[in-house]
Amino acid sequence: MRTITRDGILKQARPLIIAGPCAIESRAQIRHLAKELTDMGIKILRCQLWKPRTDRDSFQGVGLAGLKWLKEIKKEFGILIATEIVDKDHLKHLNGTTDILWVGARNMQNYELLKALGKDKRPVILKRGLIATIDEWLKAAKYIGLGKVILCERGIRTGADAMRFTLDLNGALVAKYDHSMPVIIDPSHTAGRSDMVPYLAYAGIAAGADGIVVEVHHEPHKALCDASQQITPVVFQEIISKVNAIYKLRHQKEFTINHFGAPSKKTKSAQPKTLLFLAVTNRVGILKDILTVFSDFDLNLSKLESQSTKTKEWDYSFEIEVESASNESRLTAALKILRKLCLVTKILKES
Ligand code: PEP
Ligand code: MN
Repeated sequence: MRTITRDGILKQARPLIIAGPCAIESRAQIRHLAKELTDMGIKILRCQLWKPRTDRDSFQGVGLAGLKWLKEIKKEFGILIATEIVDKDHLKHLNGTTDILWVGARNMQNYELLKALGKDKRPVILKRGLIATIDEWLKAAKYIGLGKVILCERGIRTGADAMRFTLDLNGALVAKYDHSMPVIIDPSHTAGRSDMVPYLAYAGIAAGADGIVVEVHHEPHKALCDASQQITPVVFQEIISKVNAIYKLRHQKEFTINHFGAPSKKTKSAQPKTLLFLAVTNRVGILKDILTVFSDFDLNLSKLESQSTKTKEWDYSFEIEVESASNESRLTAALKILRKLCLVTKILKES
C-alpha cells in the first residue's frame, strides 16, 4: 500500500474533497459509487463499514463483511479509502486497505480508541463531538498526534434547531488559524437535509476550511441510513465546481490582520518560482494539454513564452515559469506527466 501522510494529502488536494455514501450497503452500491466518483476526479472515498447509530434497531453497517469490496474497489479504481473506526480491535483488519482512519463525533472522547490510533502511522480525520469545546477537540487530537490529524467540523448541538446541527464556523476558524490545524467541513451531517448541503459547503470553504466531506449516494431515497441528507453524484459535481472556484478566490490573497484591526506587518516569504523548458512536436491541442496538467495540480503560471525551433528534433519549445518550488509535490507530480507529453522537460532555474 502507498504510504501517505496527512501533509502529503493536504498538499496535493486543494481543497481536500472526500465523498461517498453514509454507509457501505452492498458490493454493487459501493462499486457503482466508486466508479462515478473517481470518474469525476475524487481521490478519497468515504467507506464506512460500521455505523454507530442512536437507534439500536436501525442499520448498523455491513462490518468486516464489506472489507473485501473495499479491497476490490481500491485495486480497480486506485482510490484512497477513508474508514471510520469504532473499535480499536478493528484496526488490524484495516491494514493494507484503509489509507485514512476516521473517528466519528460520538467517539471523539473514546480515549482508548484515540490512544490506539496514536500508535498507527496513518492520517486520521477527527470529527468534533456533538457538544465538544475546541479545547476538548484539540486535546483529543493530541492523543492521536497533532501532525496526523485532520479536524472535521460536523455541526454541534446548540439552541438553534432549524437544521440537524449548527455549523460552528467560529470554532473551525479558531482551530485552523489559532492552532494551525487543518480543518474540513461536513455539510451533510450539519444540515441533515440534502437541499442545504451545497450552501454549508460553500460557507465552509469561503471561511477558509481546507476541504469538505460529503455524503453521496446514487439512489439517496433508497439509502439505509441518512437518506434525507445524501445527494446524487450529479448534484455533487455541481458543488465541486463551485467549491473549487470559491477556494481559489479565498486563497488569492492571504493577508493577516493584527489585534488592532490593521494589516499585520508580518510579510509572507516570497513565492518560490521554477522556470521550465519544454519542447514538443507540433500537434493540435498540445499547448492545451500542457496547460491542463498545470491547472490539474493547481499550479499558477507567471510566464509562458513559446518559440518555434530551428533544430530538427522538435517543433516548438516553451519557457514556463511556475509559482512553486521545484521539489514541491504538486510540481513533481505534474512533471511526471509532462515528461510523457513532451520530448524535452528541463528545469532551467529556481528562484
Ligand atoms: C458519519 O460521518 O458517517 C457520521 C456518522 O457522522 P458523525 O460521526 O459526525 O455523526
Ligand atoms: Mn451519515
